[in-house]
Amino acid sequence: MIVRRSIDPRSVARSRLSDEIGRIDRSLPPRIALTYPSPYRVAMSSLGFQTVYRRIQQSGQETVARVFAPDDPPAWGQGSADLSYETAAPLHAFALVAFSIAYELELASMLGMLSRAGIPLLGAERDGDSPLIVAGGPLTFSNPLPLAPFVDAVLIGEAEDELMDLVDRALAAGSKAHRLEQLATMGSVWVPSLHGDRLPQAAICHTEQLPAWAPIRTPHAELRDMFLVEAVRGCSRRCHYCVMRGQKGRGMRIIPKERIMDRIPSEARKVGLVGASVSDHPHIVSVVETLADRGCHVGLSSLRPERLREPLVRALRAAGAKTITTAMDGSSQRLRDLIERNTTAEHLLLAAQTCRQARIERLKLYLMVGLPGETTRDMEECAALVRELSRLLPISLGISTFCAKVGTPLQTAPFAGIDVAQRHIKTLRRALAGKAEVRATSIRWAWVEHVLAGGSASEGLAVFEAERRGGTFSDYRKAFEKLGHTPFSAHPGDD
Ligand code: SF4
Repeated sequence: MIVRRSIDPRSVARSRLSDEIGRIDRSLPPRIALTYPSPYRVAMSSLGFQTVYRRIQQSGQETVARVFAPDDPPAWGQGSADLSYETAAPLHAFALVAFSIAYELELASMLGMLSRAGIPLLGAERDGDSPLIVAGGPLTFSNPLPLAPFVDAVLIGEAEDELMDLVDRALAAGSKAHRLEQLATMGSVWVPSLHGDRLPQAAICHTEQLPAWAPIRTPHAELRDMFLVEAVRGCSRRCHYCVMRGQKGRGMRIIPKERIMDRIPSEARKVGLVGASVSDHPHIVSVVETLADRGCHVGLSSLRPERLREPLVRALRAAGAKTITTAMDGSSQRLRDLIERNTTAEHLLLAAQTCRQARIERLKLYLMVGLPGETTRDMEECAALVRELSRLLPISLGISTFCAKVGTPLQTAPFAGIDVAQRHIKTLRRALAGKAEVRATSIRWAWVEHVLAGGSASEGLAVFEAERRGGTFSDYRKAFEKLGHTPFSAHPGDD
């Protein structure tokens, strides 16, 4: 008989805290719950979350306690409140609850956390006794509108410059209405109850604030014990599906090598260089070589295939890389050209050859299916290329389904349809059986993400309804279909 012992979240938190290196402890009692609607291991691998943590802890003005979603979330709204790691306090004990939201599907978890804490979910139902609920994070670069019914304010874009001003205004004395009015006058803060659907300009921080770096290293993060530091901010490329594509004022900002190196503690043995387009850093080879000479293992958060030339690949191998991860994204040259991905079959073949020569053991490739106009012929071209690559070294293909994001040229592109994406992935699996390891993320949840990515307050409220019913895909489907969304293709046989 298997005896299940319930895990005490306080003792889990204590044990994780004791394994952290670099935490910034302060004696000032925290008034802010810095909250991540995914588990600890994900949050502590988030450079953005750790940067906000560090900046508030170092401000001398306020302190935070961190709250994470449980490792195994209970059914929505059930179970006891999630407690802060530093003070073992529930969310409702704080004056300000600040959520960092990476992407659309975290909205459900955010609602679950508020619900378990007994905080009214709808902003309109919260009075001055409830904490103020604010949000920020990568989601705000595209479309935060579905958050509208639930949050009091959202910091749109890069948080560094406006963060402490937002904290001051949110925690100021006075009524909730007065504090919201004060927040609404900030350049990049959206207060849904006052602004409606009018979003302010996304904040772009001053370059002297860069690089972002993560103070805490822990063996319990997904990126175990890794010190994270930013090498570039933004991207100068123009891929049509990507929210990070170069935009006015938000193109690629390169962090000088010395500033990156100055940030890395001498005792760090694993270093993650972070950024939307790290391999475009003009001195990336030299940065990786210097770290390899120090005996560091180095990971890069993004690698363009055309950058995988001998000097960089050799430097990465010297820094401990056995697997290299890059992306083809469009399945055929026609589609890659259409989305301005600018990656060719030749780039990928040359990258694979270079990796093989440098004794890299595996190439991981990311691919998106479901791009507008995609057909079975595109899948066949993709399979032929992956088979050719697999003759050079073992290949893992990670497939996701395209979701259109607001603020990109493909923002109005429809979802391919669960049926179409399934068929295309099946074609690839069949064609690559025995040639490459093929993994695909959930197509159903990609549809949910797609609906939310283009949605508004109504879609946010549909999440509320779906989660109340149980949070299964079928609950979401029912709630979204009422708003006219359908998960299937209108023309499933268009191939
Ligand atoms: S997909 Fe990568 S290279 Fe393309 S715009 Fe986005 S961050 Fe830049």
